[in-house]
Amino acid sequence: MDVLPLPLIMQATLPASPYILYSDGKGTIFEDRSLYTTGRSGWDALPIAQDEWIELPAGGQLYELPGRRGIGIDVKTGEMRLCEKGWAVAAFLSPAYTGLYLAAYETGAGAPTLPLFCYTAAGWHNEKIWVPAVRIENDIRQESVGFDEKKIRSGVERLFEAYPHNRLVQHLGNNCALTYHCPAARNFFMGRWECPVPSSPACNANCIGCISFQPESETITSTQDRLVFKPTAEEIVEFTVPHLETAPYPIVSFGQGCEGEPLLMWETIREAILEIRKHTPKGSININTNGSRPAAVEALCRAGLNSIRVSTNSVRKSIYEAYYRPNNYQFEDIVESIKVVRRHGGWASINYFVFPGMTDSADEYEALRTLIRDTDLSMIQWRNFNIDPDWYLGKIGVTDTGEFLGVKQLQELIREEFPHLRFGYFNPPMERIKGNYEHDFAH
Ligand code: SF4
Repeated sequence: MDVLPLPLIMQATLPASPYILYSDGKGTIFEDRSLYTTGRSGWDALPIAQDEWIELPAGGQLYELPGRRGIGIDVKTGEMRLCEKGWAVAAFLSPAYTGLYLAAYETGAGAPTLPLFCYTAAGWHNEKIWVPAVRIENDIRQESVGFDEKKIRSGVERLFEAYPHNRLVQHLGNNCALTYHCPAARNFFMGRWECPVPSSPACNANCIGCISFQPESETITSTQDRLVFKPTAEEIVEFTVPHLETAPYPIVSFGQGCEGEPLLMWETIREAILEIRKHTPKGSININTNGSRPAAVEALCRAGLNSIRVSTNSVRKSIYEAYYRPNNYQFEDIVESIKVVRRHGGWASINYFVFPGMTDSADEYEALRTLIRDTDLSMIQWRNFNIDPDWYLGKIGVTDTGEFLGVKQLQELIREEFPHLRFGYFNPPMERIKGNYEHDFAH
C-alpha cells in the first residue's frame, strides 16, 4: 500500500523570549539583543508566551517590511518601544502551519501596502529563527523538500506530449507548475495526490485581497493571473481520469488560485464529474469555492461531487461581506452550500483565513460555534491570511477588534466542544475521509 507521507513531528521548545529582528533595508537581517520580540493581535502588540514558539519550519521565509518599525520589549526595563535600528521583519510560514500572532510594528507615513503574503511574528534565539505557530496538518503534500524539479519538468513534457491540444494541461504546465510554482500543479506533474482543475475566468465576488485579480487602482498586484479561457468538460476529463486511476491518494480539485469562481462554470463541471465517474470510482472530487450558489452545489452533489471547501475570512455576515463584496449573493448562501454537501453525505470544510485578533475574537468564536452546529461541518482548514494587516482592517472598517481568546486557545476550545471536527490545512483524500482519519496513516 502507498503510505501517505506523514513526518515524525519533533518541535523544539524555547528556553527564553527571542530577540527582535530588523532589516537594514538592503535585504540583510539582524537581531537586536536589547529588545525581545512581541506579537500582534488585531491592532494590539503583546508579549508571546514561551510555549507558543516553534523553530521556523523548512520552506518558511523572512520578509523586511519597508516603512515599518518593529515593536519590542526592552530587555532591561520591560517597557515596550520601537526598534529604531531598521525596518521590521516578519515570517512567511510554509503550508501546514498556522501562525498564532502577526508581526508587531508601527507603520510610518507613506509606507507602501504590503503584498499578498502572511506576516507572522518572528524572533531570534540560539542562532535560530522562531515563530509563534502550530503544525495543524500532518500531510506533507506541500513540503518544499518533497518537490523534485527534474521529475516535474519531465512530467510536464510527458503530459504535453500525451495531451497536445489540451489548453488546461498547457496552462497547468507553463503557468502553474513552471511559472507560479503552484504546489498542487507540481504534485500533478509528479503524478501524485491532489490535482488542480481551474475552470473559471470570472468571479461573482470582489475580495479585497483577491490573489488572481487586483484592480488598477490598487498598488499591490495579484500573485497569479486569472485563467483567460473556459475549458470544456472533455479537456477536464482527459487528464483527470488517468490521475484518479494512477495517483496515490488521488483528489481532483476544482477552484484554484489562478481563476475566478468555479461555481460560475457549474454546468461544465457537472458534465465533467458525470463523465469522470463513468470511467472511475476512485479518489475524491472536490471543489474549492466561495460557496455563493447552493443550487449549483446541489446539482454537483447529484452528479457525484465528494467534497467542498468554502473559503472565508470570517463567519460573521458583516465581516464576510465587507471583505468579499459579493455580487448577487450573500453570506447565508455560503452557509447553505455547506449544508447541501452535508445533506448528500459529502465532506465539507471551511478554508478559514486566520487573522489573529479577528478569528479568535469573542464574537467570531460564538459565530463559529453556531456555524459548526448548524451545518455539521466536517473540517476547518486553518489557513494563514495572506494580506497586509493594516490594509485589511482599514478596508473592512475595523478600528477595534475587541476581546480575543488567542488562536491556540480558540483551536483548543473548538476541538474540545466538537471532537468529530477535523483540523488541517489541505483537502483530505478519500482514504482519510472514509478511513480512520488519524490511525490509518500512522507509520
Ligand atoms: S472569490 Fe476568489 S477569485 Fe473571487 S474575488 Fe474572491 S479571491 Fe478572487
